Amino acid sequence: MNSESIFDSLNQIKISIDSHKEEIEKLDQEIGDGDHIFNIQRGIKESLNLKDELKDKNPEEIFKKIGMKIMTTVGGSSGALFATLLIGMSKKYNNELSDQKNIANMFAEGVEAMKKRGKADIGEKTMLDVLIPVSQEMNKLSEEQDLKLIAKKIKETAEKGVLATKDLIATKGRASFLGERAKGHIDPGARSSQLAIEAICNTIINT
Ligand code: ADP
Ligand code: MG
Repeated sequence: MNSESIFDSLNQIKISIDSHKEEIEKLDQEIGDGDHIFNIQRGIKESLNLKDELKDKNPEEIFKKIGMKIMTTVGGSSGALFATLLIGMSKKYNNELSDQKNIANMFAEGVEAMKKRGKADIGEKTMLDVLIPVSQEMNKLSEEQDLKLIAKKIKETAEKGVLATKDLIATKGRASFLGERAKGHIDPGARSSQLAIEAICNTIINT
């Protein structure tokens, strides 16, 4: 993991999110206020703008700087929550560990920080329904050496998580105002999180 690989992943995420723009926009119009795609695209753009500045920095510094940039430039619940995830991740970076182990530890820390910040957990129809199972799966696979196998399993876990949001009632965020009416709709934050994870996994599977 280094600056180049982190920014390459961000580029892959951008490609996937941009190509699902209408879908994500519609999901947040159905159970939110419609701005989720805008917030996500803004966050990706602001992060990519830091590429030159963070060229020779270590992952700890990179995740922290990107998180702080998102915190100060991106609106909505998702801005503050993704920023919290990234800043949390930066705190656990340890260059003595394998990438798998390191990313699993970092992601677990980031997800914990997000849970605290949003006072939310699994089963509340949010992006945590993707991020928590993915974090648990990463942890389970952190001794596994076959990177393609890891990527395939993480991708499947994220897909299951996003589909699970469909039949839930939301107890956090704007969708919670809808009560039963939110049922039958996929959560926009869960979908954008799953697409981001899938984009990174596909890069690993296809190399
Ligand atoms: P806003 O809801 O403020 O308009 P966005 O539209 O950018 O912000 O993001 C909405 C997404 O944020 C939701 O789809 C959901 O996944 C996520 N979300 C909202 N509240 C929480 C929370 N407390 N914890 C985790 N995720 C949340
Ligand atoms: Mg919104």
